[in-house]
Amino acid sequence: MDLTAKQVVVTGGAKGIGGAAVTRFLEEGACVTVLDMDEKQARERLVNFEDRSFFIHCDVSKADQVKGAFNQIDVRFGAVDVLVNNAGIQRYSTVTDTTEEEWDLVMNVNLKSAFLCSKYAIPLMQKRGKGVVINVASVQSFITQRKVAPYTTSKTAMLGLTRSIAVDYAPDIRAVAVCPGTVDTPMLRWAANQSPDPEEVYREVREMHLTQRIAEPVEIADLILYLSSDKAAFITGQAIRIDGGLGLVVAGSVRQ
Ligand code: NAD
Repeated sequence: MDLTAKQVVVTGGAKGIGGAAVTRFLEEGACVTVLDMDEKQARERLVNFEDRSFFIHCDVSKADQVKGAFNQIDVRFGAVDVLVNNAGIQRYSTVTDTTEEEWDLVMNVNLKSAFLCSKYAIPLMQKRGKGVVINVASVQSFITQRKVAPYTTSKTAMLGLTRSIAVDYAPDIRAVAVCPGTVDTPMLRWAANQSPDPEEVYREVREMHLTQRIAEPVEIADLILYLSSDKAAFITGQAIRIDGGLGLVVAGSVRQ
C-alpha cells in the first residue's frame, strides 16, 4: 500500500477505530488531518508526527464547522486524497422512547457528518483527479440489536450514501463502507459501563462472534488503509463486513 504523501482526513481520529487509522496512515507515510472534539487525545496521538499531521477542533455534525475545517485544509494542503468518515456515537433506545433531540443527535453525528465532510472533501479530491471516501458504518447496517433504533438507522443509511458517492463520482472517486462487528474502543467501554456488570457484557459480546473474541481497532484500521490504497482500485460502492462472523449463526441452533 503506497500511501506516502497522501492527504488523508479522518473524522473522530482522536481515539478508537479512527485513532488507530490515524496512527496506521501516519506509519505508512501519509499526511493526516484529524477532525475531532477531543483535542487532548488527538494531540497525544499526533505528537511524533507533527510535520505530517494537523488537528482541527471540529464538531463534524455542524455544517459551519465542517465547511471551515475544509477551508483550512484547502489553504494548507490544496487537496484531499482520502476521507474517512468515522466519527460516531451510540445511544440506546427504541422508536417509542427515543426523543426527537436524541434522534437528531445520532443522525447528525453519524450520518449528516459523513454527508457534510464528503460535500466539502470531494471538490478537493477533484482537484487531484481522484480520491477515496471510506464510510465507517457497522454490522448494524445489516443486523440489529435491541434498542438501538437511531444508531442502526444511521448506519444503514450510510450504505446508501456510499453507493450514491460511488455512482455520482465514478470513475475518479471511489466510496466504500466498512462495517465492523464489535471493536474494543472507548465507545464499547462506555456501552459496557451502562450495565451493572461491564465484564459480563464483554464476555457475552465476545461469545456472539464466531471468532469468540472482539476486534482490536488496528484490525479495522488496516482494512481502511487497504481500501484507501490503489490495491483496492476495483472496489467501489460496496459495504465490506469485518465482523468476526457476528450474526451468521441461526438463532437457537445447537452448538456441536
Ligand atoms: P469512540 O467513541 O471510541 O471514538 C469516536 C471518536 O469520534 C472520538 O474521538 C470522539 O471524540 C469523536 N467524535 C464523536 N462525536 C464527534 C463529533 N460530533 N465531531 C467530531 N468528532 C466526534 O468510537 P469507536 O468505537 O472508535 O467508533 C468509531 C466508528 O466506528 C463509529 O462511527 C462507530 O459507530 C463505528 N463502529 C464502532 C464499533 C465498535 O464496536 N466500537 C462497531 C461498529 C461500528
